[in-house]
Amino acid sequence: MTDETEAELTGATARRRPKASIDTIGGRKLKPSTMMMGHGYDPVLSEGSLKPPIFLTSTFVFPNAAAGKRHFEGVTGKRPGGAEGLVYSRFNGPNQEILEDRLAVWEEAEDALAFSSGMSAIATLFLSMVKPGDTIVHSGPLYAATETLIARILGRFGVHWLDFPAGATRAEIDAVLSRAASGNVALIYLESPANPTNALVDVEAVAASRDAIFKGTKPPIAIDNTFLGPLWAQPLKQGADIVVYSLTKYAGGHSDLVAGGVLGSKEHINAIRLMRNTIGTICDPHTAWMLLRSLETLELRMSRAGENAVKVCEYLRTHPKVEHVGYLGFLEEGSRQADIYNRHCTGAGSTFSLYLKGGETEAFAFLDALKIAKLAVSLGGTETLASHPAGMTHLSVPEARKQALGITDNLVRISIGVEDADDLIADFEEALQAV
Ligand SMILES: *Cc1c(COP(=O)(O)O)cnc(C)c1O
Repeated sequence: MTDETEAELTGATARRRPKASIDTIGGRKLKPSTMMMGHGYDPVLSEGSLKPPIFLTSTFVFPNAAAGKRHFEGVTGKRPGGAEGLVYSRFNGPNQEILEDRLAVWEEAEDALAFSSGMSAIATLFLSMVKPGDTIVHSGPLYAATETLIARILGRFGVHWLDFPAGATRAEIDAVLSRAASGNVALIYLESPANPTNALVDVEAVAASRDAIFKGTKPPIAIDNTFLGPLWAQPLKQGADIVVYSLTKYAGGHSDLVAGGVLGSKEHINAIRLMRNTIGTICDPHTAWMLLRSLETLELRMSRAGENAVKVCEYLRTHPKVEHVGYLGFLEEGSRQADIYNRHCTGAGSTFSLYLKGGETEAFAFLDALKIAKLAVSLGGTETLASHPAGMTHLSVPEARKQALGITDNLVRISIGVEDADDLIADFEEALQAV
C-alpha cells in the first residue's frame, strides 16, 4: 500500500509522510549529532534528493475538501497538535518542519517551533502567555531587547514584571516569587548565563521555589539558552518547561542568518504555535534550510570553539595587561556559581568577558589592533568576534546600572570561533602589545 492510499483510507493524514526516522540501533540510542543527517526527512518524497529541496511556495494543495477542513481544525486549535498536513506557509512548510523535528532532538523536547528571529520567538512566547494585569517574573539582566519588550512594550498593555538577580539564592528567589504570587504570575522567564555578567541562574532552585509557592496551576518556566545550548546546557533537565533560542548565534553558527526557536512540551508548544499561526513569526524556508546545514556541524563547531576558548582564556588570564577574565571555566571552586555550573552545565562555552587594565582608550586600542578577530557584536559564529559593550550593545544603559552589571569601559566581550587556537593567541598577543 502506498503512503497516499493509506492516507486516504485512514483519512488521518491525507499527506505523504516521511518514513519513520531511526533513533536507535541495536538498543543503542543514537546521538543528536548522528540524527542531524537524516531525522525527519525521507528522500523518497523529494525525487530521491539527498538533501531536502527548499520549498518556495506560499500555499499547499489539499488532496480533498475533507482533508482541508481537518487541517484547518488543527491550524485554528479546534484540535490540538497543529495541522496534520501543510496548509499555508505562514503556518508551516516542509523545511521548517524538518528543522523543528531536529531542534527538538538536541534537548529531547517533545516539540519545537522555528521563528524568524530570536526576538520574534520571545515575543510570540510572551503574547501567547500573558494578558493585562499579569506579572512576568524574570531573572536579570536579560538580553536588552527582551527587557525592553517586557518593561516598555508589554508594560503598555498592563503587564507587570518583577525580577531577581541571575545569581540569586533559593531564599532570594522565594522572596520575589512570594511577592509576585499575590497577583497572577503568567510566566517565569530566565536567561542563563546573563549577558554580559555571565552569572548563571539556578534553574533547579527556581523550579523548586515555583513548586513550593504555587499550588494548583503553576506558571511555566521559560529560559533563554542561547549562550550555552544545546551542547553545554539543557535546562529542561533542571525543571524548565520551555527553552528559547536565538538560532542566529551558535545554532546557526556562521553569522549568516537570523532565526529563533522554542522547545518544550506539546501542550506549551501548541499554545505558542497558535500565536505564531496568527501573527506569522515563522522563519522562511531558505533560513530553515541553512539551519539544517548548520545543525549537521553543530557539535563539531561548538566543541572546537569551546576547546579554543579554554586555551585562549588560559593565555589571557596571566597576561600583565589583563585585569580579569570572566569565563565560566574559571569559577571559584566551592562558590555558589561553581555549584550551579556543576549541576547545570557540561561546558563553559566560548563567549566571555575580558577586562583590560585601563579604560576605553586601552579597550579601543586592543580592538583596533586585532587582525583575525573581527570587530562586531553577536556571538557563536565560526569566526572570533570582539566588541565593546559599554560603547556598543549597552550604550544606552544608564550609568548606574552599567556599573552594577560590571559593564565598565575596560570591558571587551569576546566570542571565540573555530580558527586555530594558537593563531588566535598570536592575534591577542599582538593586540595586547598595541595597548
Ligand atoms: C541575540 C540574542 C537574542 C535575540 O536574538 P535575535 O536572533 O537577534 O533576534 C536573544 N537572547 C540572547 C541571549 C541573544 O544573545
